[in-house]
Amino acid sequence: MINVTKTFLPEKKKFQQILDRAWDKVWLTNRGELTLELEEKIQKKYATTNMLITNNGTIPIQIALKLLGNQGEIITTPFSYVATTSAIIWEYCKPVFVDIHPEFLTIDETKIEAAITSKTTAILATHVFGNPCEVEAIEHIAKKHNLKVIYDAAHCFGVVYKNKSIFNYGDVSTCSFHATKVFHTGEGGAIFCKDEALFHQLFYSHNFGHNGPLAFHGVGINAKISELQSAMGLAVFDEMDYIFEERKKVTDYYLKTLDFSKLTSIKIRPQTDWNYSYFPIIFESEKVLLHVEKQLKNENITPRRYFYPSLNTVSFVEKMDMPISESIASRILCLPLYVGLKEHDLERISTIINTSLLC
Ligand SMILES: *Cc1c(COP(=O)(O)O)cnc(C)c1O
Repeated sequence: MINVTKTFLPEKKKFQQILDRAWDKVWLTNRGELTLELEEKIQKKYATTNMLITNNGTIPIQIALKLLGNQGEIITTPFSYVATTSAIIWEYCKPVFVDIHPEFLTIDETKIEAAITSKTTAILATHVFGNPCEVEAIEHIAKKHNLKVIYDAAHCFGVVYKNKSIFNYGDVSTCSFHATKVFHTGEGGAIFCKDEALFHQLFYSHNFGHNGPLAFHGVGINAKISELQSAMGLAVFDEMDYIFEERKKVTDYYLKTLDFSKLTSIKIRPQTDWNYSYFPIIFESEKVLLHVEKQLKNENITPRRYFYPSLNTVSFVEKMDMPISESIASRILCLPLYVGLKEHDLERISTIINTSLLC
């Protein structure tokens, strides 16, 4: 069985050795030494701004919306994982969708201003598959209209845009360290924020609002990661260069062998050091997609329809037409991409796709 992804597992012995440190100290959570070390390593290697590791990649979006969304209208993308939209609703804000760019697949910045009203408080956009949004244009619009910018950068571990970590853009950026993501801690995530005052608020919010053991800064939630998860993170972190290299090889193979006269893929924005987090292909029609998907499944190969459906069509949002997002969502398939995917399997996948495209 070949799945769209396979979790990278470090050497078990190495993981256990790191875990021993938590054991010896009898310290399993509350920002223990493994969590602090992992934060320091990530910040140092990718030169990120202020950062806080969290228990997943969804709660940080909610915390950011709680602090910056003010229960207003949030301009957002319909082409993302459902967490982007549901976090908005969960925080009593209202999603206002803006359609996407047909090649970059990120929110179409040229359509944002038309969606702004007196109730708009923030823009929540996703760097889809690690492909940066047009961050400078978005920043310009946000400044002009006094809006906050939050990036769902769940796919972006390791991405550098214009010589800067992608996490350093926006008022707040979030990442996911879920087991299916490029870098993972099993479950986990992170929140990034340049502004010191806002960072302190985020920090309090992620730990029940605690300001010391006896005082509270305000209302908070529990978004802390455990040392058990950070141990996994430290073991995986050391392999990141290898992980990116191997993922690049798979990507290059697809680019070289697939028949792009009948397909397209995502267009990565210039000046991006990409992280090879996903390999999406876009078909001419949903009919072709379903046909190809069926041929792959017959051979026990399971790609995933990321992202489907377009989020403006889910039952819990007000209906709005987003023709580009709906069209792309119906025609896009993410192919298997992970460390350890064998060349003969890649060959099989490419052959099945190219042959299926002929009929
Ligand atoms: C994975 C993902 C999330 C959620 O992250 P979790 O760590 O699973 O909570 C949010 N947004 C996007 C775009 C994702 O792909």
